Amino acid sequence: MNAPVSAIEQLLLELPDLDWITDESRVTRLSQDFSWFSPVLVRQLKDKRADAVVRPRTEEEIRTVVGACARRGVPITIRGSGTGNYGQTTPLAGGVVLDMTGYNSCLWVRPGVARAQAGIRLGELEKQTKPTGQEMRCVPSTYRSATLGGLFGGGFGGVGSINYGPLGAPGNVIGIRAMTIEAEPQVVELRGAEAMRMHHLWGTNGLVLELEIALAPAHPWLETLVTFDSFENALNFADKLANAPGIVKRGVSFFAAPVSDHLAQLAAHLPKGCHTVLSLVAESGEPALLQMVEAHGGTVGYRKTAAEVQKSNRTLMEFTWNHTTLHALKIDPTLTYLQSGFVPGRHVEQVIEMEKLLGASGEVMMHLEFIRNVAGLMTCSGLQLVRFSTEERLQEIMRIHRAHNVHINNPHVNIVEDGKAGGPLPPEVIEVKKRFDPMGLLNPGKLRDWPVKGPRSA
Ligand SMILES: Cc1cc2nc3c(=O)[nH]c(=O)nc-3n(C[C@H](O)[C@H](O)[C@H](O)COP(=O)(O)OP(=O)(O)OC[C@H]3O[C@@H](n4cnc5c(N)ncnc54)[C@H](O)[C@@H]3O)c2cc1C
Repeated sequence: MNAPVSAIEQLLLELPDLDWITDESRVTRLSQDFSWFSPVLVRQLKDKRADAVVRPRTEEEIRTVVGACARRGVPITIRGSGTGNYGQTTPLAGGVVLDMTGYNSCLWVRPGVARAQAGIRLGELEKQTKPTGQEMRCVPSTYRSATLGGLFGGGFGGVGSINYGPLGAPGNVIGIRAMTIEAEPQVVELRGAEAMRMHHLWGTNGLVLELEIALAPAHPWLETLVTFDSFENALNFADKLANAPGIVKRGVSFFAAPVSDHLAQLAAHLPKGCHTVLSLVAESGEPALLQMVEAHGGTVGYRKTAAEVQKSNRTLMEFTWNHTTLHALKIDPTLTYLQSGFVPGRHVEQVIEMEKLLGASGEVMMHLEFIRNVAGLMTCSGLQLVRFSTEERLQEIMRIHRAHNVHINNPHVNIVEDGKAGGPLPPEVIEVKKRFDPMGLLNPGKLRDWPVKGPRSA
């Protein structure tokens, strides 16, 4: 159901000084994200788009456009950089896409904490924190383009989560400033647990203006690729390295064969058919790392110091998490992926079990990212590549994982409750929705059982 053009035209006439985008192809592009990783979502979301995009630059402009949309009942879908994976920024009911990338200042950096406007790109924020010897606790592999508001609204964590857990772990986000969607929008500061009631809600229960986040000490990170002939040696090495308390690290990733064969840009460093462990380890930890490589029969195929990484402007971070999937899809567009969580303490055993069940045939290719869970326990997240055949088989593969006690965060769904949330929203989150979006205008259709209303006629 698209908003009647008249309501949008009224908005454009009322607010001519705002930066509006109405060109059809640009609006279509800005209505999309990376949901094309999923053949299921491609089918579901084709033809879904906004009626117009607006790019406010100040809080006053945001307030003006939000108030005007609320008065007309026009749906608002908030967008950062649109690198989300589940059609999170694709409007299902037309209306306005509110592009936050023009609202992007870093407000301050202090010991252990920084505050910035939601539209700042994470790479830009780190440019501000690095001179103070600090970096973000966890960044998605899309950190160059992704925004802080988008990470909070749609992301999970990423590089650094091996130390600090997912973004949602208490202490990582200290507070947010958010706006209500009303004719007279209110601005409210939420701290701690209260702030987290807007986390990973896909911009359905509040518009985040600013975020205050905890920082980590920055280290010069040594980036390496270590290759192995044996799946189990590589996996054990990755697990030992992830757990090694004396080796300071920012990330450990595991690519079972033939995942590495899909990383074309690294092909010179990865023998065909190898199993690979990618790591970012503090440069001071290199001797301990090399001892561990030798003990597990690995070979260092790639090694770049922090200075070399900075000079080349190429980081292995952009081969981790869903970047692995992106590189693989460039080689083989018929692939798709899973998002899974293994049980801490049993994760190595479970990975071996799943590899035997689904890896041997080549249907599911193991890709793991080591992380601490919310309770601080080391485990790994799977972003397995899947050779897609049918939607039914994809469902069956997810069912097999669940049957083996491997948690699935289904990336092939477009409803908040069906994804990572894994079921009905807690009452306190619904309260936030009622308080911040009383008219149900934010990203309508993404919350189950929340009515999708059309705009009032202008
Ligand atoms: C190749 C690839 C790799 C990725 N790797 C990772 C990874 O390592 N870890 C990870 O967590 N994710 C990852 N992602 C997903 C995504 O890149 C991140 O979650 C990223 O942080 C999203 O930021 P964005 O600015 O692009 O958000 P968008 O996609 O623009 O928005 C995401 C969601 O947040 C909402 N939102 C945006 N801004 C606001 C705001 N100001 N207020 C309220 N809601 C808002 C939007 O409505 C939307 O629902 C990856 C995606 C791709 C394609």
